[in-house]
Amino acid sequence: MTTAVPDPIPPHKNFDTILVLDFGSQYSHLITRRLREFNVYCEMLPCTQKLSELEWIPKGVILSGGPYSVYADDAPHVDPAVFELDVPILGICYGMQEIAWHFGKNVLAGEKREYGHAYLKVDRHGDGVTGGHVDKLFAGLEDDMEVWMSHGDKLSHLPGDFITVATTSNAPFAGIAHQSKTLYGIQFHPEVTHTPQGKVLLKNFAIGICRAKANWTMEKFVHQEISRIRALVGEKGQVIGAVSGGVDSTVAAKLMKEAIGDRFHAVMVDNGVLRMNEAKQVKETLTKGLGINLTVIDASERFLAGLKGIKDDPEKKRKVIGNTFIEVFQETAKKIASEASSDKAGEIEWLLQGTLYPDVIESISFKGPSATIKTHHNVGGLPKDMKLKLIEPLRELFKDEVRELGTELGIPEELVWRHPFPGPGIAIRILGEVTPEQVRIAREADVIFIEEIKAAGLYRKISQAFAALLPVKAVGVMGDNRVHAQVIALRAVETSDFMTADWYPFDGAFLKKVSRRIVNEVDGVCRVVYDITSKPPGTIEME
Ligand code: GLN
Repeated sequence: MTTAVPDPIPPHKNFDTILVLDFGSQYSHLITRRLREFNVYCEMLPCTQKLSELEWIPKGVILSGGPYSVYADDAPHVDPAVFELDVPILGICYGMQEIAWHFGKNVLAGEKREYGHAYLKVDRHGDGVTGGHVDKLFAGLEDDMEVWMSHGDKLSHLPGDFITVATTSNAPFAGIAHQSKTLYGIQFHPEVTHTPQGKVLLKNFAIGICRAKANWTMEKFVHQEISRIRALVGEKGQVIGAVSGGVDSTVAAKLMKEAIGDRFHAVMVDNGVLRMNEAKQVKETLTKGLGINLTVIDASERFLAGLKGIKDDPEKKRKVIGNTFIEVFQETAKKIASEASSDKAGEIEWLLQGTLYPDVIESISFKGPSATIKTHHNVGGLPKDMKLKLIEPLRELFKDEVRELGTELGIPEELVWRHPFPGPGIAIRILGEVTPEQVRIAREADVIFIEEIKAAGLYRKISQAFAALLPVKAVGVMGDNRVHAQVIALRAVETSDFMTADWYPFDGAFLKKVSRRIVNEVDGVCRVVYDITSKPPGTIEME
């Protein structure tokens, strides 16, 4: 059992914050990301958020797009109190239609959908009627700009007191603004990269119009986060958490260390299917390098014994590894707790989790008028009968921000930019049965592949790369002898969000070199193949 605890000093109390109210568009999270890219803090909440229940005042509000039609009976609508907040509001697509509907009930279905690129013509109004505020949204932008559209509904006419600020050949109301209040609507999507100048427009809104301070930097966040952790945990509180050597858990652990020193207990479980020398390296970096109070438990034999005999059931592999992990973590936690409580501090009552903002967004994004909003449970691998309170210091951060934070905390670059590695480790990169011999082969091949990728300067370009071991044997000739040995499959993908991915187009000379080295240096391998499947239909991992 874990419980969430009220937060003493959330970032929206420390940083000027723009609130994105989400109507369920697939792009909503991008609005948040874009704003943060120019250092304005931004949080997303579902469009159903009651303003009276919001404990902070945003500097401005953005209403996102969404798949519904504002005029439909069951269409979602914002709490009308948002229009009384007296802060600037920008509606994007559905969000603009929502503004128009609120002020004039003037939205209807268009004759045809408009999807894709469009050319926007900006209407400047100067200082005349409006005192100049309407032009601020397009400040510094060209009068003609390329934008991305995705809508089927349209405004039939302007609501009272609004004026047109942009048009396209197909959309007479591509941009609207209130004459005197800072209310804006745009039919296109500035948050997607297909609107090349979209970021400038969002910046104009957040900084130029809302006057939000662009002070969301990891340097500032570190100090505030450390005080926040201290306030939450108290003077004696102790925290336990698993580390894997990946960037998220390392950054979270280092932050805990900075905040509460040795009252944070990191546990690393060596499950026997980590990368080559990983347990040793992680121990070095975390203890000697970063000063983290770490216990490493070598449970390789226990894991490998559990995996024995599982031949073609990847789910079972994952389960065995997951369950064994919980057992080992729990045993270790009990031991650490009994030792820890006997000396200086209090009981261990906190569990560190490396939850990131995309998980939070996923749990709060608007799923439809009738969907109930589920709270997020990132409980994979949590001991059930330990009564622990959750501490999630990265829950406001996107992955790139975690990396920045890692750099800020002095974590070595190599670790900060490390490719993701699955919890079940190379067990799911060894297709078929996992045996110590198969682990050896997969590890050795992987080391060579990654070494060559780094030597070619491609490691940061590629999002994830590894060598997998196929459960088949092929014939080869090595040193005049006929051999019957195994096949290594190389996989390397590029992706920005890991939802879709494409294989990396290495040049032939590179592949030739890797193949030659693996066949020569790894005993038991006589062939190397390269996986040229994108995701979808493939997944990044092979099992
Ligand atoms: N459903 C609305 C329309 O089709 C809004 C679409 C959107 O927000 N992308 O016009």
